[in-house]
Amino acid sequence: MLKPMFLRPGRDDAARRRHPWVFSRALSGNPAGAAEEVEIRAASGALLGRGFASPRSSIAARIWRFDDGPLDTAFVRARLESAARLRDRFVPPETDGYRLVHAEGDGLPGLVVDRYGDVLVVQATTAGTEAARPLWLPALRELLPQASILQRNDLASRHGEGLPLEDELLAGDPPPGRVRFRERGVTYLADLAGGQKTGFFLDQRENRHLVQGLAAGRSVLNLFSYSGAFGVAALAGGASRVTHVDVSERALALARENHAANGQDLTRVETVAADAFEDLRSRAARGESWDVVVTDPPAFAKKTPDVDRACRGYKDVNRLALKLLAPGGLLLACSCSGPVSTDLFQKVLFAASLDAGVPARILERRGAGPDHPVSIDCPETEYLKAFLLSR
Ligand code: SAH
Repeated sequence: MLKPMFLRPGRDDAARRRHPWVFSRALSGNPAGAAEEVEIRAASGALLGRGFASPRSSIAARIWRFDDGPLDTAFVRARLESAARLRDRFVPPETDGYRLVHAEGDGLPGLVVDRYGDVLVVQATTAGTEAARPLWLPALRELLPQASILQRNDLASRHGEGLPLEDELLAGDPPPGRVRFRERGVTYLADLAGGQKTGFFLDQRENRHLVQGLAAGRSVLNLFSYSGAFGVAALAGGASRVTHVDVSERALALARENHAANGQDLTRVETVAADAFEDLRSRAARGESWDVVVTDPPAFAKKTPDVDRACRGYKDVNRLALKLLAPGGLLLACSCSGPVSTDLFQKVLFAASLDAGVPARILERRGAGPDHPVSIDCPETEYLKAFLLSR
């Protein structure tokens, strides 16, 4: 018998609309217990779905299936195979780094799997997802028997749920600290040992490609560069020079390695270890002028209460970035804050343009690539927004 979790009367709308998140405040009684498989039931007793509980989270359970079928390895294998087929269709040629599983977007709540060649890097963001490991790990191993599977656990969400934070090797040989992979023939290194996310920002692949395509002969300022991927793509596209700005020396060292891995001319590359806000202010004061500027800061807002402060940060960064644009220059302004909607981000960019006294046109509104599918039932799975603006 599976443990049932009953929703309070009138609190079953979201589950009936196939939203996978069951908030603890919608539950009747105190369902605290183990991270385990559960049935979600309406107050009437009607079965709404099956999923996994995360007793210490405000999202007390996530629903994995909404019919009355079993939550077993066959079910999870089918979801995984469907995720893999989607990537087969949409991942561009000469590319062996992409997101294989995008959690709720692939019907596998809380599970992220990034592929870097023969290395899979897994993140299980919730206790329930961790409890489901006996379902997803065998399915992953069957799908890619040759792969090493590393689980990276240093996540804030895991901290909050009392889960272990040390990385774990789940299958195969221990991968090197840095793994090489390719995107449309350009080589990158993912920093598995100490990098951000799973070691690289795969979500920006299509936006890197955009920058690559418009960089020929242009100067490129890459703010919040991390390991320099936008600049590596820009040089691959024939940029005249690239400057990366990031607070992290480790990230900048990796940026230089990424350029070198592609045999690029390092005399065209500058790395600046600095706070990007201060760096931008001094560039604006010096009256610098750039052809292409990329702003891709960390998520300023992870939760709704942070949104106002986040918007002030986005406005400040992009106001200064717009001032640096040469006439006809291009700004790729990104936000990976889930709670900052596309509409709101556009308003922030409008305010930045107004304050800067720099009129701007929107050329494109973009997001993550199709290997980061957004569940239409769970719009919270969309987080990355990118606007291409021209002066
Ligand atoms: N654009 C990158 C990803 C950026 S992640 C890519 O495409 O790969 C955000 C980066 O911002 C991190 O590398 C982090 O070190 C850096 N960062 C955070 N706060 C910063 C600040 N105030 N100034 C400069 N860099 C900062």
